[in-house]
Amino acid sequence: MTKRDYYEVLGVSKTATAEEIKKAYRKKAIEFHPDKNPDNKEAEEKFKEAAEAYDVLSTPDKRQRYDQFGHAGVGGAASGGGGYGGGGFSMDDIFSNFGDIFGGHFGGGFSSFGGFGGGSRGGQQVRYGSDIRVRVKLSLKDVAHGVEKKLKVSKTIKCSTCHGSGAKDTNSVTTCSNCHGTGQVMHVVSTMLGRMQTSAVCPKCHGEGKVITTPCGTCHGEGVVKGEEEISFKIPAGMGEGMQLNVNGKGNAARRGGQNGDLLVVVEEEKSEDLIRDGDNLIHNLFINISEAALGANVEVPTVDGRAKIAVKAGTQPGTILRLAGKGLPTVNRYGNGDLLVYVNVWIPKNLDKDERKALEKLSASANFKPAPDASEKNFMDRMRKIFQ
Ligand code: ZN
Repeated sequence: MTKRDYYEVLGVSKTATAEEIKKAYRKKAIEFHPDKNPDNKEAEEKFKEAAEAYDVLSTPDKRQRYDQFGHAGVGGAASGGGGYGGGGFSMDDIFSNFGDIFGGHFGGGFSSFGGFGGGSRGGQQVRYGSDIRVRVKLSLKDVAHGVEKKLKVSKTIKCSTCHGSGAKDTNSVTTCSNCHGTGQVMHVVSTMLGRMQTSAVCPKCHGEGKVITTPCGTCHGEGVVKGEEEISFKIPAGMGEGMQLNVNGKGNAARRGGQNGDLLVVVEEEKSEDLIRDGDNLIHNLFINISEAALGANVEVPTVDGRAKIAVKAGTQPGTILRLAGKGLPTVNRYGNGDLLVYVNVWIPKNLDKDERKALEKLSASANFKPAPDASEKNFMDRMRKIFQ
């Protein structure tokens, strides 16, 4: 197959201006457009031929090389091998590269053209809003039972005037004429191996496939404005200091209808002096006096929900740990609660009046006041293990 002269293909003179070439190409493109000539192989070939001619003649340095060396000067041998000939220039290329030529004539009509348009939409870029990080303080009670929180968050929100589109009204958005809504453009690049096709984000619409002709007056085309949102979310039981909860889609709104970011909730635990957290266990440091330790007593200890009464047996030694099973904290994603460990301290009075001193002196001489630890009490390591187990 012998290649036709490009000037002849477009029907222009060798001295035609760029404008004349563009006009001539548009005319041919419309004449042979596949939408107008369905299932017409000859029209398709002519359509491709015109695009190829236009590609060369509309690019000054290519046109110069063509004028000087003919088809050989612009990559394609005169026979057509290795260049555009034989279908190297696809329909997609034509629409992508010279889409603006068709502009108003075929806008939106390409989806009817098999394989083009709809299928290429996968190239569109999705915009994402950024995440927002907030901190919430939880009491032990919140940690124990979980809690519903409501927060006012400053963030970008969807513009209510344009509902996030960024356009003044529905007539102010057009399909991008450069990429015809695909968001991508194809480039044909000459390489050592011949012509290669690459795709890139459409520079005109930045991959959106749409162009706003008149922007929304409220958000100036952004589709988002600065605002505030009251966000409710549930914090499950067992969350601890530094743990993070993601509230999907509640972060900053993305420009022009993209995907919202997330709200990242970082947990801060309110420290309690009475109840110290150790994993899912809670520890309470209990002080009783010598008499209570010796005689036994019913004492109150704090819990996450209030207070609990516990019995301290007669003869309880300092360092004894009383375990209140299940009165600790739940663990996220695990069944059951930790325990409340009551560490018993025996408070030794530091000031004594005359009578107290006398009473104690008397008791000190008594045989029962002579320390007589049993085997496990004597074993220091054993005691330590009991404390820290
Ligand atoms: Zn708006």
